[in-house]
Amino acid sequence: MAFDVQAVRAQFPILSRQVHGKPLIYLDSAASAQKPRAVIDAMVQAMEHSYANVHRGLHTLANETTDAYEAARRQAAELIGADINEVVFTKGATEAINLVAAGLGASLQAGDEVLLTEMEHHANIVPWHFLRERKGVVLKFAKVRDDGSLDIDSFKALLSDKTKVVGVSHMSNVLGTVNPLAELIALAHDAGAVVLVDGCQAIVHEIVDVKVLDADFYVFSGHKLYGPTGIGILYGKAEALAALPPYQGGGEMIGQVSLEAITYADPPHRFEAGTPPILEAIGLGASISWFRSLDREAVVAHEAALYARVRDGLSGANWLRVIGEAPGKGPILAFTVEGAHAHDVAQILDRYGVAVRAGTHCAEPLMKRFDLTSSARASFALYNTEEEADAFVEALFKAQAFFA
Ligand code: PMP
Repeated sequence: MAFDVQAVRAQFPILSRQVHGKPLIYLDSAASAQKPRAVIDAMVQAMEHSYANVHRGLHTLANETTDAYEAARRQAAELIGADINEVVFTKGATEAINLVAAGLGASLQAGDEVLLTEMEHHANIVPWHFLRERKGVVLKFAKVRDDGSLDIDSFKALLSDKTKVVGVSHMSNVLGTVNPLAELIALAHDAGAVVLVDGCQAIVHEIVDVKVLDADFYVFSGHKLYGPTGIGILYGKAEALAALPPYQGGGEMIGQVSLEAITYADPPHRFEAGTPPILEAIGLGASISWFRSLDREAVVAHEAALYARVRDGLSGANWLRVIGEAPGKGPILAFTVEGAHAHDVAQILDRYGVAVRAGTHCAEPLMKRFDLTSSARASFALYNTEEEADAFVEALFKAQAFFA
């Protein structure tokens, strides 16, 4: 199965629009990806033809909607090589990490340690700070090297029998660094720690098998994976989920409720209190099914080629600083332009129809590590083309000319 980027693009209605009279060149997919027709249609179809609350009714629409909701769970499970009962729907990666942190936190004591890395997104830092503030848990951060790779020696030095949890991103949303998870997870398990992997970026650009990785928890958001907002996935090993107390209380997550006592449903439903994001789950199911129908290795190769082309096109730009050049990195280019604020660079690029991000990318500790207050970031997705890569390079040279 070859990868035909034009055939893929044709499935994304938004990609044919213009910005400031120029064709849109969308290089902000690491923040949120655009949606293919398959996702849009699945959500419209559900609303127009087959919608009701899930797990509740005995009527046809309730049963059809429940089937579609559970089929989406199966899609997510198959995407990552999990069993269906190990997949919890959340509202996003952020909620998934909060759920795990709150659950694990219930049995942590003052002085217990959580080991993170300097390259984590705030979503994988702040929930652990809650445990520091509320329980006296100690946070440690493994260092990042100058090239953007994780300093494994620092990770090893900080890991001890006090480490109860390790939280690490699979791929950095700024540096593009792909962390050596198999090694990190084995080290963490040897030390007796539970491992949570933030897979928000990697799920889009890597082929992920949670069983091979041996991760205890793996989280990602639907909206970066060409699906809707408001839905994400928490994978947890069956025994890890079974050991976790519920996060929110309400309908659907209970076994029985009386005025005196409650019992809980088994995972995954134990963690899905209340009416879930039904339409969003159906949309995510459609996006995953669409994504899985592609030649995934060809997708990875296409994205890597785009990144290499851009990096090559910018090789002579002595005014450019690229943040993160670790070998094997994903298609994410964080950069600064000498003498220019990242926001200004982004705004000028926008005039050329090029959408990039600028700011701290919700990774302030990492910005500080590289002595930055902000950076611009171009991120590539499967629908980007070589022509777009070249147009971005050209627009960046023109933008730089404003500041020279
Ligand atoms: N982790 C990483 C690496 C991310 O890139 C993001 C989104 N920028 C998140 C966590 C948070 O995801 P969400 O906002 O969808 O919950």
